[in-house]
Amino acid sequence: MIVRIETAPPKKPGRQPWYRSPRAIRHAVMLFFFLFLLHVAYDHQVKGGGPRGTPSVEAYCPFGGVESLYQFLTTGGYIRRIEPSAMIIAGALLVLTLLFSRGFCGWICPFGSIQEWLGLLGRKIFRKSYNPSGPWERRLRYLKYVILAVIIGFTWHLGTLVFRPYDPFLAFFHLGQGLDEMPYAYAVLGVVLLGSLKYERFFCKYACPLGAVIGIVGKLGLAKVVRSGDGCNGCNVCQKKCWANIDFLSTNTVRDAECNHCLDCVVHCPKPNVLSLKSAKWTFSHSAYATALVGGLALMIGVSQLAGHWQTQPKMVSFTGNAGRLDPGQIRGWMSLNDLSGGYHIPLDQLYAASGLPRTVKPDLRMNRIAQDYKLDFDPDKMREVVAAALGQEPPAAAAKRPAGQKDHKPGEEEQVKGFMTLNEVSLKTGVPKDYILKRLGAPASTDPRQPVRDWIHDRGKTIQDIRGIVLDYQAGRK
Ligand code: SF4
Ligand code: SF4
Repeated sequence: MIVRIETAPPKKPGRQPWYRSPRAIRHAVMLFFFLFLLHVAYDHQVKGGGPRGTPSVEAYCPFGGVESLYQFLTTGGYIRRIEPSAMIIAGALLVLTLLFSRGFCGWICPFGSIQEWLGLLGRKIFRKSYNPSGPWERRLRYLKYVILAVIIGFTWHLGTLVFRPYDPFLAFFHLGQGLDEMPYAYAVLGVVLLGSLKYERFFCKYACPLGAVIGIVGKLGLAKVVRSGDGCNGCNVCQKKCWANIDFLSTNTVRDAECNHCLDCVVHCPKPNVLSLKSAKWTFSHSAYATALVGGLALMIGVSQLAGHWQTQPKMVSFTGNAGRLDPGQIRGWMSLNDLSGGYHIPLDQLYAASGLPRTVKPDLRMNRIAQDYKLDFDPDKMREVVAAALGQEPPAAAAKRPAGQKDHKPGEEEQVKGFMTLNEVSLKTGVPKDYILKRLGAPASTDPRQPVRDWIHDRGKTIQDIRGIVLDYQAGRK
C-alpha cells in the first residue's frame, strides 16, 4: 500500500515571491527556534543561572548531551553545566535523525539558521554567493570530523567542556556578555559570521562537531531526497541551488552526509515532482516534514517531562555534607550572601566583615557576579574559608599554613585550582600528576578523576585549599 502524506503542488519557480513558496514554511520553523533560544539567552543573561535563575542555552543544546554521554554511561552523572534536558534532546535528535535524516540542521538548529540568513544577506550585498566545490573543498569538510574526535576525546577524558571556550554558538547566545570569559569563542564567532556572508553555511560545512555527529547518524536515516529520472531534463538547477553542492546527476538518491534536507533543490527544480523527499513509501511535503520534525521533538520532550526526567537547571544543593553537618564545601558561585547567611545561620554583618566586602554589595547578588559588577578582587571560593571560620570549623590546612593575606595566586590572576575542576583538569592545567595529588591528600588511587574535586574532597576531610597547597608545593619543588 502506498501512503502519500501530502504531495507538494506543482511549482512555478521564479514566478512566486519566496514568502509564498514552501521555503517560507522552513524559514518560519527556523525563526521559531531561533526566537525561542534568543528568549532563553536573554532571560539567562538578565536573571542569571543556578536553581533560582533561568536555564542557559546549553540546557537546550544536544551537543552537550553528546559531550556528557561517557560521563552519563559510566557514572550516571553529567559534566558540569550540562543538565538532563541536553541529554534528552540529544536522544530525541538521534531518533529524529534515524527517521528523518539530517533535518535538524536544515530546519531547527538556530546557529545553522543564522548562517543561512547571513548567506541570503551576503547574496543581496555581493549579488552572488561563493559556494566553492572541488576535491579540496570536499576534503576540507572532513575537518569537522577531526574537530569532533578531538573534542570528544578530551572532553570524555577530562570530564569538562573543553570546546566551551571556543564555541561560537555559545558566544552568539551570550549576547555580547562574557567577552573576558570566552574571547576565543567570540573571535571564532566573528570569523563564522563574516564567513557566512560569502560562504554558505560556512561553520556547518567545515567545523560544526554536532553537524559531524548528525551527518554520521543521518547516513542511516530513512528519509532521503530522491530524483525520478523520468521527468529530469538534466538542467542541474538542483545542484546550483544546493548549499552543499550535491551532485544530483550522478545519483537518484541523495545519501550525502552533507544534505540537511533544506529542500531548496525540490523547490527550485523546474520539473514538478521530479525531486521529492521520501521515506519508505511516504512522500513528504514541506509542511509534512515540518510537522514530523517539530511534532517528534515536542512529543519526546513532552514524554520526558511527564516521566519527570526533564530538568534544565541545576538543583538546589544542601548546606550539609554527607557527614550530616553544615559543610562550607557546598558553597557554589551562584549562591548569594543571603543564601549563605540563611543556610549556615551566620549574620549578614559577620559575613561582610569577615569577607572584607563593602556593604554596597547587594546581599542577594550571585557571588560569581560580585567581582564583575563591583570591580572587586573577589573569589566566591574564599567564602568557604570565611564560613568555616564562622562555624568554628578547622580552617583548611593549606590556608592555615599561609601567612595572613598571602594568596595562592598573584593579584589579577585567577586561582589555578577551582572546586568545579576535575582532577584530570587540575593535573593538565598545573602540570602536577594526579597520582601525586591523590597521594598527598590520602585519597585512594581509584578516585574518579572526571568528577569535580568539590564533589569528593570534603568527604575526605580536605578542602580545595589543600589541593592548591599541594600544587604550590609541587611547583616550588617542595615535593
Ligand atoms: S551543522 Fe551544526 S551549526 Fe550547522 S545546522 Fe547542523 S548543528 Fe547547526
Ligand atoms: S540536496 Fe537538496 S535538500 Fe539536500 S542540502 Fe542540497 S538542496 Fe538541500
